[in-house]
Amino acid sequence: MHISDRDESFYRSQSYWLDSVPGSLKPRPHLTGTQQADVVIVGAGYTGLWTAWYLREHAPHLDIVLLDTDIAGFGASGRNGGWCTAYLSGLDQWLDQPATRAAALALQRDLMAAVDEVGRVSCLEAIDCHFDKRGHVAVAVTREQLQRSDEDVAWWHALGFGEKHVRALNVAEVRQHVRMADSCGGHFMRHCAALHPARLARGLARAVVAKGVRLYEQSPVLALSDHGVRTPEGEVQAAVTLLATEGFTNTIEGLQQHLIPVHSVMLATEPLTPAERAATGLERRHTWNSGSHLANYGQLTFDGRIAFGNRGRYGWGSRIETTFADSDPLFAEAQLALGTLFPALKDKAISHFWGGPMGVPRNLQPAVVFDAVAGHGWAGGYFGDGVAASNLAGRTLADLVLKRDTERSRALWVNPPGLSALPQRAWEPEPLRWLAISARYRIMGWADAAEAAGRPSARRWNQMLERFPG
Ligand SMILES: Cc1cc2nc3c(=O)[nH]c(=O)nc-3n(C[C@H](O)[C@H](O)[C@H](O)COP(=O)(O)OP(=O)(O)OC[C@H]3O[C@@H](n4cnc5c(N)ncnc54)[C@H](O)[C@@H]3O)c2cc1C
Repeated sequence: MHISDRDESFYRSQSYWLDSVPGSLKPRPHLTGTQQADVVIVGAGYTGLWTAWYLREHAPHLDIVLLDTDIAGFGASGRNGGWCTAYLSGLDQWLDQPATRAAALALQRDLMAAVDEVGRVSCLEAIDCHFDKRGHVAVAVTREQLQRSDEDVAWWHALGFGEKHVRALNVAEVRQHVRMADSCGGHFMRHCAALHPARLARGLARAVVAKGVRLYEQSPVLALSDHGVRTPEGEVQAAVTLLATEGFTNTIEGLQQHLIPVHSVMLATEPLTPAERAATGLERRHTWNSGSHLANYGQLTFDGRIAFGNRGRYGWGSRIETTFADSDPLFAEAQLALGTLFPALKDKAISHFWGGPMGVPRNLQPAVVFDAVAGHGWAGGYFGDGVAASNLAGRTLADLVLKRDTERSRALWVNPPGLSALPQRAWEPEPLRWLAISARYRIMGWADAAEAAGRPSARRWNQMLERFPG
């Protein structure tokens, strides 16, 4: 379907969140002709929106153009699990190394504060995104998962984040929050809020437009030019160009192999009945998951559904998928996983199926990059943990553009060695990329199945995963 044919009903079909967002999803005008700006931002997901919001907050007269191929919140920001979490994939590598530990701890604390910052600005801007900070319950449903959960708690404690941040839960304590079949313990992490992702993205878009940002939708950037960007019907000339395209970065000429798209899929149930809420224990809106290798994650939505995410896939050649058929086998797997964790929901009617891409960098570490001389920057690579991290990244990019010397602008993930102002650390070519990622998914699946069945082979698969790259 041509982009200009995509209308409100198409955008609503992209996720439960976009379907249930109040107000219009009719695309805003697209870019035509040549325009001048101080800053052009490509991508109106959280990263682009937060960057624009903080830039205007600190420099109200800065002239900013924000462009999106579709509409604000079309990408992962309008599709995710709504966990606004301080956990950030890739940070553990830095926390584990003595040379980077102190700086990584500072970044971790900033991420914890970012969860509250998302709540603060939502409140300030009257964005009713159902923000509810009740923490996250990680449930172990096998002996091996319990062992990993205990190791996680010990790891956080050894880093200095004590019981008030993370604590182990016994079976009875877990069951006070969530009743999964076979749960044998787990842990609680305080720094996580549940929210309605698309309400946040669309609310932020409204807020930045009200602050004077020029947001053009259905305006795909085809390529970067010397001083700006080019779309099918126009161009923006600007001193500063920022890329906030995450899992979609390979749509831009020359950036095909950098942040690659890996997908996760989700479903939303019909609202739970009182009996189902009692059976699942899901009376409050803390977020939860089980400790399987193939990720699953869930929240009780404000209107009483379960929004449940499950493993996804990598598409050959870094293919980006945004529209998924309800008959996609990934959804059957997700339904099976939900029914296994919560037998009371085995036959529960599902109202929505959807999925979307996340951006994965080759070194598996997120980054905020800005070259003040070239006037180029980008942020992303959050994998599945970008809801809070994109707020911190956007605030940081704004500091860097405005030459504000802050602790954020000097943080560990800013301009890490080996990365340049355009995402550059390339992935291996196909078929190596597809083979490696698919093999890792396969081994995770085997390890999960072996653990669930109590088979001794679980140990072998787990050892293999530890040695497997990524
Ligand atoms: C199914 C799923 C579940 C997830 N669950 C969680 C979760 O529970 N918690 C969490 O922390 N994280 C989660 N994530 C990850 C999180 O959603 C992302 O990290 C975050 O939304 C990234 O925001 P972004 O603005 O960087 O990218 P996106 O939201 O993907 O935005 C990129 C934007 O760029 C636009 N664009 C792309 N190419 C171009 C172009 N050439 N020109 C112009 N515009 C372009 C796109 O249309 C899009 O709007 C999940 C992701 C998915 C897919």
